[in-house]
Amino acid sequence: MEYIILDNEWHTPYCKINGKCINELIEIGAVKLDENLNEISRFSVLIKSTFTKKLSTRFQRLTNITTEEMLQNGMTFDQAVNLYCEWAGKDAVTMTWSNSDLYVLLENFRFRRKINTVPMIGKYLDLQKYVQNEMILKGSKITSQVSVSNMAIMLGMSIDGIGLHRALDDSLLCAEMLRKVYNKERLHSYIIDTSVPDYYARLTFKAYIIRDLNSPLVNKKKMDFKCEKCGRDAKRMTPWSFKGNYFKAEFSCNCGNKFVGRVAFKKYYDKVVVKHNTVPIPATVKKVEKSDKPLEEAQN
Ligand SMILES: [Zn+2]
Repeated sequence: MEYIILDNEWHTPYCKINGKCINELIEIGAVKLDENLNEISRFSVLIKSTFTKKLSTRFQRLTNITTEEMLQNGMTFDQAVNLYCEWAGKDAVTMTWSNSDLYVLLENFRFRRKINTVPMIGKYLDLQKYVQNEMILKGSKITSQVSVSNMAIMLGMSIDGIGLHRALDDSLLCAEMLRKVYNKERLHSYIIDTSVPDYYARLTFKAYIIRDLNSPLVNKKKMDFKCEKCGRDAKRMTPWSFKGNYFKAEFSCNCGNKFVGRVAFKKYYDKVVVKHNTVPIPATVKKVEKSDKPLEEAQN
């Protein structure tokens, strides 16, 4: 089995056709490794922007890619992708540092080729997830996503002299990090097949809270409440209202117990998750307007 560590650089010019900014791929860099993590070959190409003739100063500073270099050496997106696919072959496991590269690649394929897949990736692995979990197994306390350069520092590697953020350099650095924490069996348990039909639909699905009580996704049976004091069915006393992600209503039980029942429905790609809980009825505070006269005075 061969591994490819892929890294991409992109910028975000305004796209008139879409009426919004697009993450346009500018550089693809990658290194191919054998199963013992020995380097087999390297890949690096620049893509010429179709939106701008000049790269932003910030992008040039971050990536060390200059406008002149892009204009001189940049090829079209299709040329770059075809070259990459020829180099990569079909069976390698592709890794990227976090799956944000996948989203950007998908955005580019959608825009350029009107397809909802990334044909240059088959078997895929999120290297950041793997390396972070290896570090956690070793006792590191990692609670958020760690950047490539910070992880290199955590692993005691020198990052001096490495043109960080240049795509190929980043992929070489990732290869070095992988060598430090490589456990073949555990690594393989992270491999995902992106060629399954709904992989990208699932990846890009944004979970949302259902706000419409009449939505077919709302299971009305989940809106019944039992009294927590005596276990009998409680009766709803007010209409449902929606606030703070929850449908809420006041409930009352024959035993005298009263409470607010709250239900939230969250839609994920292939399921609806229901949250169901109760809170005490808030005490109603009677507001006394300043203009109101004290009771005694009114009686006089
Ligand atoms: Zn009760």
